[in-house]
This record gives sequence, C-alpha cells and structure tokens, in this order.
Amino acid sequence: MNAREIERYSRQILFGGIGEAGQERLLRASAVIVGCGAMGAAVANLLVRAGIGTLRLIDRDFVEPSNLQRQSLYSESDARENLPKAVAAERRLIAINSAARVEGIVTDLTAENARDLLSGFPLILDGTDNFETRFLINDASIALNVPWIYAAAVASSGVTMTIFPGETPCLACLLESDGAQLGAGAEETCDTAGILNAAVNVIASIEATEAMKILIGDRSGLHGRLISFDVWRNEFRAIRAARNPQCRACARKEFRYLEGEAQPHITMCGRDSVQIHERGRHLDLGELNRRLGPTASDVRGNDFLLRFRVNSYQVTVFPDGRVIVKGTRDPAVARSLYARYIGA
Ligand SMILES: [Zn+2]
Repeated sequence: MNAREIERYSRQILFGGIGEAGQERLLRASAVIVGCGAMGAAVANLLVRAGIGTLRLIDRDFVEPSNLQRQSLYSESDARENLPKAVAAERRLIAINSAARVEGIVTDLTAENARDLLSGFPLILDGTDNFETRFLINDASIALNVPWIYAAAVASSGVTMTIFPGETPCLACLLESDGAQLGAGAEETCDTAGILNAAVNVIASIEATEAMKILIGDRSGLHGRLISFDVWRNEFRAIRAARNPQCRACARKEFRYLEGEAQPHITMCGRDSVQIHERGRHLDLGELNRRLGPTASDVRGNDFLLRFRVNSYQVTVFPDGRVIVKGTRDPAVARSLYARYIGA
C-alpha cells in the first residue's frame, strides 16, 4: 500500500479483523454482483468504499423514480435520463473511489451467459430480486465451485446465507427440500408487499461483511447460518440449516437452471411488466427508432436503450434484444407488441 491508501483506509486498518494485511488483500480482491437494485447497490457502495480492487455489476434494468427511495447509488437525474442501473452505478462508484475497477454490464443473467459473466471471480454476490436468477446463480456457483452470498429483502425483513458449494447447504437445499425453510422474501416481492430501505441495508451490511471476510481469507469469522432480521419488529433469527444429501443442485449436480431448461424467454418483471428476451439477437436502436410508425409516441432514447409508448403500454428496448413492456401482466400482449414493433 502507498501512503495515500494507508491514509484513506486508516479507520478500517485500525480494526483488528482487517489490519494492514487484510486491507492489502482487499485492494487486490474482486467480486461480481448480480443485480444492482437496492441490495446490489448497497453492497457495491460498501465494498467499493472499503477498497475492493475490482467489481463487476450485472443488471438488466434502468433507473425509475420509484427506485430512489431505497436504491442508494442513484439520483433523480439518472431516472430522468433513463440510465441503465449498471451504467449509473458504475459512474457513481468510480466517482466514489477512482482507484476501483468497476465494470457495469447491462444484461440479463441467463443460462447462456452465466458461465462467461461469472467466471474468473472468487465470489458472487446476490443483488437480484427474483428466485429464477438466484437458482441460476446457485447452479453456476456449484458448477464453477465458487462461493456466493444469498440475500433478499421484502417489506420490513430480509434473509441472507453464505454458500460454499459442497460444504454448506445451498439455495436448493433450503428451498427445494421437503419442509423447505422458506425465509422472508421467498413468497412475496417488493412489488406486492413493499420494502423498507432499512431492511435492505441491514441485510446488505451482513452480506458485504461476509464478502470482506471471504475476500481477505478469514473463513473462521463467517456466520454459518441462515440469518433473518425484521427491522420493524426487531426480530433477529439465525438458523443453522442442514445440507440435503439428495439435493438436486449440490449433491446430484443437476443444473436445471444453468442448462436453461427452467428459464423461459418471457418473465414477469415487477408488478405490471413483462420482459421478453430473444436470445442472441442484436438490435440496431437507431434503425428501430427510424422505422417506428406513427402509432408509437413519446419516443425517447439514449446510448443504452430506446423507449416508446403504444396506447397504455410503455416499451423499452435494449440492444441485446431484450424488451420490457410495462402496463401489462399478459405475455400474449407483450409478444404481440414485440412482433409488431421489433419484428418476429
Ligand atoms: Zn444443495
């Protein structure tokens, strides 16, 4: 470490659990965060301020005004400019710590790209908002033999667990077994039950601290439990979960999600949105903009996406072939808009 780094991280180096040796390891460490909503943003903020060397952020979404209550890296101007979260987060994190190598990737983590996007990192962090993607991360973590930290929050509570493939229970051990120990966040989503920003931050703090222990090589300090905390009721629980010896994922190595069998091309995305992801399709947004007919209104775009309105639907198109249709829960409506405006 140089003098500037010693000064910058002095209060963290003073803490016995980290020290100079731990800080040096952290400065050389890397991790990948999947999802950069409330949880991902909070964890990224903590790790980049703590001095992590390299951080990759993967997120498929863009910033909206309803995110600002809890997604701590974003501002009103990010929402006004419709910036993708991965782009806005990268800019903000580099402004916070210019020495960190931060790479934001605007895409949906899928069976096709998960191995590529997650390989080469010693730790995967959960910042997602859905169990589809979490099971994909769980499969990839076991296939790549890399630990990951599960973290979820909804309403006033959240859960987290640190998963080492083959050593600790995995997400499938918890949620796919008989009598599964469903944690908070497993049944409801923040689109139905709402979310308190503090609930996210408590769980994100535990997740980021576990990440720091793993990255500096102190596995003895890991909590080793399924932890849940409710900030409204002030209830803390720490359950020692067990591995399922018949687990589909960590015992039988059946990677249903990573092999793509379980992932549909159409997914629900929030309360009233449908996402369509045509695989391996690249769209020219400029060309699409030119051929949008007079039925499309309110056409706006930036370097990362194109958005327009058709009747009561808002359609957002990304260059990787993804489309998010807001204003419907019906996949058929989304499909027909896709076929009409983007092309079958
Ligand atoms: Zn398992």
